[in-house]
Amino acid sequence: MELRDGLGRRFNYLRLSITDACNFRCAYCLPGGWCPAPGADAPLSIDEIRRLVVAFATLGVEKVRLTGGEPTLRRDLAEIVAAISGVPGIRRVGITTNGFGLSRLAPALRDAGLAFVNVSVDSLDPERFRAVTGKPLLERVLRGVEGALAAGFGTVKVNAVLLRGLDRAEFDRFVEWTERRPIAVRFIELMPTGCDSRFFAAHHVPVAWVAAELERRGWFARDRAPTDGPAIEYMRAGHAGSVGYIAPSTAGFCAACNRLRVSSRGALKLCLFGDRDVSLRSWLASDAHAGDLAGVLARLVQSKPAAHRLGAGCHGTTRSLAAIGG
Ligand code: SAM
Ligand code: SF4
Repeated sequence: MELRDGLGRRFNYLRLSITDACNFRCAYCLPGGWCPAPGADAPLSIDEIRRLVVAFATLGVEKVRLTGGEPTLRRDLAEIVAAISGVPGIRRVGITTNGFGLSRLAPALRDAGLAFVNVSVDSLDPERFRAVTGKPLLERVLRGVEGALAAGFGTVKVNAVLLRGLDRAEFDRFVEWTERRPIAVRFIELMPTGCDSRFFAAHHVPVAWVAAELERRGWFARDRAPTDGPAIEYMRAGHAGSVGYIAPSTAGFCAACNRLRVSSRGALKLCLFGDRDVSLRSWLASDAHAGDLAGVLARLVQSKPAAHRLGAGCHGTTRSLAAIGG
């Protein structure tokens, strides 16, 4: 069975938030830090996560990325990874993390079946890193990236949100980092979530800047395969890694969408910038109900919007990507 919408898009990739808690205060995401919402439900349990992933897997979902908030704050993260990796049909499980706990956790996560790791590193300058993330922890995060490489994750993807203030010297530091290390740096266009309209206006930089900087340095864009994700990747002879960008404003971004998102409390979000969340939790309480979930998902996906409406100034109801994982 496949999960397809009326436009023929096939969804084989689930982004699952497992907590909305975070220990960083990124200026574009949780500038005031994370506060528990009063009376909020607990995050999904391992059993609920397993039932959810089984339903998606019966519909052809093969790849799951765990995100947050900060997924490494869940003490049962390795157990969650092992549970999902063991679901028939699931080929690859990964995480997106701020890297805080990665040097310690990487070997256990690898043993549990984790296939890939994305680490957010917004600056390679310690002071700018502190200014953006609210934490003076660049060294520790870089140890996390090295820990992941040492644990056997062949390439580590590094997400850096492109913000005003990222100058050529900083850009060069990222480029140089990829020379000897198998690191895929991806500059992410700042997205206008509900909480940051003034921040967005002051800090947004079009990703065309990244393409121009790379081409000026003699990098070339890698040919794209139909199954590639939204990242545009550039290579250069002699570099172990790559540099690129991800921008929701890029032509074809929505037409190629292959992903669905579920929040840490079990709400399906059909579009990152949409205004409709559907709680799946009542189907996750026991194995008896979980059987119906695949049919529910197949029906819900039919109402996935064709495209976001960022161009018209509509960025949906998500106030911070920490609530849904980016
Ligand atoms: N805490 C983890 C981390 O930072 O990697 C995972 C969750 S975080 C919400 C996932 C990704 O979303 C990170 O790479 C982060 O930089 C990115 N992100 C958050 N808010 C964003 C925004 N407004 N625009 C662009 N990217 C954003
Ligand atoms: Fe936390 Fe990630 Fe948001 Fe930064 S981007 S505040 S690390 S959830």
